[in-house]
Amino acid sequence: MNVDYPGALPMWVPENDLFTTNTHQAIVIHKTASGTTAQEIGQYFINVSPGPSVHYVVGLDGTIVQCAPESLGAGGNCCSEQGHDTFWDQFGTINLNTVTLSIEHVDPSPTNSTPCPQAQIDASFKLVLYLAQKYHIAPDHIKPHSSLDPISRAHCPGNYPFADLINYVKQGGESMGVPLNWHDDGTTLTAPNGVAVRLGFRDFVLSHGWDAGNWPLAVEQGVTLLEASNPSLGGGTQQLFRWIMLAYTPARGVFMEWSVVELAFVRGQLATYYPQVKVLQAEVDSLKQQLAQQTGLDPAKVADRLSAIGLESSNGNQRIQQLVNQPL
Ligand SMILES: [Zn+2]
Repeated sequence: MNVDYPGALPMWVPENDLFTTNTHQAIVIHKTASGTTAQEIGQYFINVSPGPSVHYVVGLDGTIVQCAPESLGAGGNCCSEQGHDTFWDQFGTINLNTVTLSIEHVDPSPTNSTPCPQAQIDASFKLVLYLAQKYHIAPDHIKPHSSLDPISRAHCPGNYPFADLINYVKQGGESMGVPLNWHDDGTTLTAPNGVAVRLGFRDFVLSHGWDAGNWPLAVEQGVTLLEASNPSLGGGTQQLFRWIMLAYTPARGVFMEWSVVELAFVRGQLATYYPQVKVLQAEVDSLKQQLAQQTGLDPAKVADRLSAIGLESSNGNQRIQQLVNQPL
């Protein structure tokens, strides 16, 4: 049997362990709270048959294992318990495994608190988007397991970045809006490295299909010269990102600076001035040495030596006498 999702590894649970229909009306996100690889979890579902199963398992390294065909119901989401999300009430008494697709995510921590590696997030988000588009499942029909079982599965899927997943699916996988794994509270946009982007720079990032990896290096700051290569720009505020510099002046608003032109100019300056700095440094070193030698002279010893010479030649050379008595 071929896998439904290109690239998935097939580890089929026995088919008579599955439900014969699936109407694909919702996707349920889980975390395993044990195990270390997707293959290990897939093997577990095979071993416990008849028992629980899911459609897909996403490993920490992004490996995806398929355990049940999408056309059938897996055994992951059977029963809702007290306090469940009222979303599930629309299905009445139907076995929820026949209306849902289930996705497990490997997490060795019993409390599902291992931070999801980027590879796992990327693989998971793409898989969920694929299923949502394939079966026309709306973002508000993607649910955490805890929405079904808020008591017995309160920690499923734990720290899985669920809100980011919903944003990703809403944007159809495009990077418009809040970049993947960044956070926005409506005022402050915060990159994964914790550095904040605010005001016009925030608006710019949110409206320009920003690459999620283009983190800010530091917060916005005022500078007297925005670009050495274009002094007529004058000063303003500036924020440096990994691949881009954003600037703001009252006259121009927020704009993307000519970062590589600036880089080339500054590299040119470095090539010109660095050899000069080396020459000047050598001169400074030599002067320091001379100074050290000069301060090494003891004026008392010099005077002493001069008078000794004077004594030795007291009856002789007038010229020596003259030199000895001459002020220094
Ligand atoms: Zn679960």
